[in-house]
Amino acid sequence: MEFLDVPTVLKVSALLNLMAALAWLTLAQVFRIAPRAGRLMAAAHLVRIVAQGCGDCMAGWPVLLRQAVPEFSLLACMVLLLLALRRMLRSRQRSRDVAWVAGLGMLGVTLGLASGSGLAPSLAGTLSVTVLALFAAREVVRGVGSQLSTAITACMTLPFAALVLLGMAHAAELLLISGGAGDAASQALPSPVRAALWLVLTVSITLSLIALMIWRVIMRIQHLTYRDPLTGALNRRAFEQALTEAQAQLQRGHGFALAMIDIDHFKRINDAHGHQAGDAALQHCVRVWQAGLREMDRLGRLGGEEFCVLLPIGSPSDLATAAAVAERLRSQLAAQPLHWKGIELNLSASFGVALPVAGDAQGEICLARADAELYRAKAEGRNRVCVAAALDAVATA
Ligand code: GH3
Ligand code: MG
Ligand code: MG
Repeated sequence: MEFLDVPTVLKVSALLNLMAALAWLTLAQVFRIAPRAGRLMAAAHLVRIVAQGCGDCMAGWPVLLRQAVPEFSLLACMVLLLLALRRMLRSRQRSRDVAWVAGLGMLGVTLGLASGSGLAPSLAGTLSVTVLALFAAREVVRGVGSQLSTAITACMTLPFAALVLLGMAHAAELLLISGGAGDAASQALPSPVRAALWLVLTVSITLSLIALMIWRVIMRIQHLTYRDPLTGALNRRAFEQALTEAQAQLQRGHGFALAMIDIDHFKRINDAHGHQAGDAALQHCVRVWQAGLREMDRLGRLGGEEFCVLLPIGSPSDLATAAAVAERLRSQLAAQPLHWKGIELNLSASFGVALPVAGDAQGEICLARADAELYRAKAEGRNRVCVAAALDAVATA
C-alpha cells in the first residue's frame, strides 16, 4: 500500500489531534461548554500525539525510553478520555475502577520494562487500555441508552467497542509473536494499516464525544426551557403542553387524572424563617413528591407554592388509583419534615383530584375541576385530599 506510508499517516494523525485539542480547549475556555470534560479531552488528544510517536523521530532514543513513552502515554490518554466521558455524561461513578486498572497497567509496564522483556510492557499496556475502552463503551450505553434510540446509542458506542476489539486483537498478536521471537515489540511496530486504523478510531471517538457534547447541550436547553429553575419540576408551559397531549390521548382510551396541590400555610414559613427557608421548603416538597411518583407521572409547578401532577391511569374512570396516589403524596410530605439550618419545619399540603370528562374541550377544564376540589380541601381544614367526579370527598387529615 504505497499511498499509506506510516510517517505520513502519523503526521496527519498528529495534526488532527492537535486541531481537536485546540477545538476542545476553545469550547471549554471561550464558550464554557462542558469545560472540565473539554479540558480533559484536549489533554487526551495532546497525549495521544506523544503516544503514537512519529515514525523515526525516536530512533536515537534508548530502547527503554522508546518502549516506555508510547505505553505510558497511551494509558494516560485512555484514562483522560474515560474521565472526560464520565464528566460529559455526568456519571456518578467514582473513578476508583479507572485508577485500579491504570495502576495495574502501569505496574505491569514498569515490571515488564525492568525485566528487559519486549513483550510484557506492550501486553500489560494493551490489556489495561482494552479494559478502559470497555469501561468507556459501558459508560456510553449507561449514560445515553435509556434516553436515545438504540441505533444512536450503538453509533456512539461503536468506536469504543472497536477499540476493545483492536486491543484484543493486538494482545493476541503479541502473544502469538512471542511464541517465536524475543523482541515482540519491534515486530508489532505500526504497519501502515494499523496506523490508519488508529487514525480512523481517533477520529470516530472524537466524533462520538462531540455528539455526546451536542446531546448534553440540547438536554441543558430543554431543561432551561421546560423546567422550573428552583425545584426542577416542569414549568407551567411544559405542564400545559403535557396536559394538552394527555387530553388528545384521551380519545384513544388512555386515561389520566390531575391532582392539584397547594402547600398549606406556606406564607408562614417565609414570614417566620425568611424567603430562603421558603425556597428550601419548595425544593423539599418536590423531592418528596418526585420520589413517590412513577417516571410517567408529570409534576409541574404552576406558580408560587402551587403544583399539579398529571397521572396517566389504566382506565379513564380509575379515580380510586389517582386518589390513592394523591393520598400517598400527602402522607409522605406530612411524615417527612424539612431539616433546614438546624430548624425542623413540618410541612403539609392540600390536594384536589379530578378526572377529565369526555365532553371537556381542553385539559384546562379538568384543571379547573381539580382546583375547585383543592379549594374544598383548604376549606375543610387543609392537609387532605378531596376528589371530584363521583364527587366523593376522601378526607384524610
Ligand atoms: P394556604 O394554606 O391558604 O395555601 O396559605 P399559604 O400561606 O400557603 O398561601 P398564600 O397564597 O397566602 O401564600 C403563598 C406564599 O408563597 C406567598 C408568596 O410570597 C410565597 N411564594 C410564592 N412563590 C415563592 C417562591 O418561589 N419562594 C418563596 N420562598 N416563596 C414564594
Ligand atoms: Mg398555600
Ligand atoms: Mg396558593
